[in-house]
Amino acid sequence: MLKNNYHTHTKYCVHAKGDVEDYVKEAVNLNMEELGISDHAPIPLNHGMTKEEWEENYCYENMDINTFDNLLNEIDNLKSKYNIKLYKGCESEYLYNNDDWYKKLRSKLDYMILGIHFFNGEGRVLDTYKDITYKNVDCYYECAKRAIETELFDYLAHPDLYLFDYKSINGKNEFDDKAKEICLKLIDLCVKHDIYFEINTNGLKYSKDKNNRDLWLYPNIEFFKVVKEYMDKNPNKLKLIIGADAHEPKALGNDNVKAVLEMVKDLKLDVLNKMEIK
Ligand SMILES: [Zn+2]
Ligand SMILES: [Zn+2]
Repeated sequence: MLKNNYHTHTKYCVHAKGDVEDYVKEAVNLNMEELGISDHAPIPLNHGMTKEEWEENYCYENMDINTFDNLLNEIDNLKSKYNIKLYKGCESEYLYNNDDWYKKLRSKLDYMILGIHFFNGEGRVLDTYKDITYKNVDCYYECAKRAIETELFDYLAHPDLYLFDYKSINGKNEFDDKAKEICLKLIDLCVKHDIYFEINTNGLKYSKDKNNRDLWLYPNIEFFKVVKEYMDKNPNKLKLIIGADAHEPKALGNDNVKAVLEMVKDLKLDVLNKMEIK
C-alpha cells in the first residue's frame, strides 16, 4: 500500500467527499507516514476565460477562495492531533497571464501540483478530456512547459491525461508517434525542472475493465511503457511517484491503488514513495 500520498481532495471541492480529518484518520489506519492535502485551487471568474468556459470546465467545483484559508487552518490544527506528517498543497490549473494568482496560491502552501484539465489553445480554452487531437496536443505540452517554467509547481499530476480521448490522424484513440513524442517531452521537462511525475490511480474509477490494463483511461499503459524505456536508459533522473488523487477517504487505499501498484511492479517501474518538501 502507499506509504505517503500527496494528491488528496476533500469536501472543500464539491465533487469530493470527506473532511480533512476523515482522510487523516484513514491515512493513520493505513499506517501512512505522510499525507498532503491538495484540493483543486480556486479559479476566479476573471481568469482569462469566458464565463461559459469557466462553467463548461466545472470551475465552480473547485475550492472557493473564501474557504481556502479555512482549509489551510484545518490542516494546521490537525497536525498535533495525529501521528502523521501533514502537508498543505493544492492542485492548480495553469492558464496564461495569471502568474500573480499562482504565486499568491503557492506562497500559502508547502507544495503545488499542476493538474491540466483544461488549457489555452486554438484561441480558446480546450478541455483535456475531450478536445485533444494530434493537431493541438502540442498546446497541452506548451501549457505544462509554461507552467513548470514558472518554478511554482512541484509535481505534475496525471501527465498522461491528454490521452483520455486523444484522436490520432486516423481519428482513433491510439498511442501514435505524436502521443509518444509528447510523452517524452513531458518527461524531459520534468527531469529538467526536477518535478515529480505522477502515476495517478484515480483514472481506474472510470475505466470499464479494471482487469484489462489496455482499457485503462489512465494510467495509460502505453505511456508508462515509454516511461519505463526512458528510465532504463536514464536511471535516477525521473522522479516518478504514485498519487491516489483521492476524492473519498477510502480511495487512499482502495482496489484502484492496488491495481496500479501491481502494474508498477509488473513494468518494474522505479517509483519514489516519498516527496521531498522544501
Ligand atoms: Zn477532482
Ligand atoms: Zn486531483
